[in-house]
Amino acid sequence: MDDRQLLRYSRHILLDEIGIEGQERVLGARALLIGAGGLGSPAALYLAASGVGRITLVDDDEVDLTNLQRQVMHTTSRIGQPKVASGREALLQINPGIEVAALRERAAGERLRELVAAHDVVLDCSDNFATRQAVNRACVLARVPLVAGAVIRFDGQVSVFDVRDEASPCYACLFPEDSRFEDAACSSMGVFAPLVGVIGAVQAAEALKLLAGCGRPLVGRLLMLDGRGMEWTEVRIGRNPSCPVCHARG
Ligand SMILES: [Zn+2]
Repeated sequence: MDDRQLLRYSRHILLDEIGIEGQERVLGARALLIGAGGLGSPAALYLAASGVGRITLVDDDEVDLTNLQRQVMHTTSRIGQPKVASGREALLQINPGIEVAALRERAAGERLRELVAAHDVVLDCSDNFATRQAVNRACVLARVPLVAGAVIRFDGQVSVFDVRDEASPCYACLFPEDSRFEDAACSSMGVFAPLVGVIGAVQAAEALKLLAGCGRPLVGRLLMLDGRGMEWTEVRIGRNPSCPVCHARG
């Protein structure tokens, strides 16, 4: 780190749990964000500000007027731009010392698996069940930790799935792929704006802890937030021994 970096990241370096070594690990780390919307905005902003060396944004959508109530890395002047381009601009304005890859696509299949395998942590900031399952499969296969968040109306949830940890469930252990889900995408439902900020910031915190190698990750625990009463509930979650996605992992 040069003098400017030592100053920029001094409030992390001052933390015993992070220090210079932890910050160096963050600077050398690669984070993949699936979704550059309500959850992806705060998550990406904090990762960029914290100096995560390479951030990849994946999203096939464009900035729309209805996004701006909660997707805080986009701006009125960038309506109509691809979200990943708008996001890249926002992140580099905060921190020009990092690399940001803007991929305007809906990654799936082999392409998604390659992307996941090329990163150190994945943040699922998507808004639909099919994508969540595909991202989970790719993370299990590549043994890359997954930080999954979701928000609908006044309800949020967040957890970390890290199959490098023998005791950790995968996302499908908790939400089986064949479960009949009402896929209520944010595109058609109400969302209380600050809730995506809260959950997205928790995702950033968990990702940074994993990258810096500090703290205790949110593995085996699902945090649920009811924004109406501002009540957190923690549920212990374990592996499903017959989970078709992760039961055969080595
Ligand atoms: Zn599983």
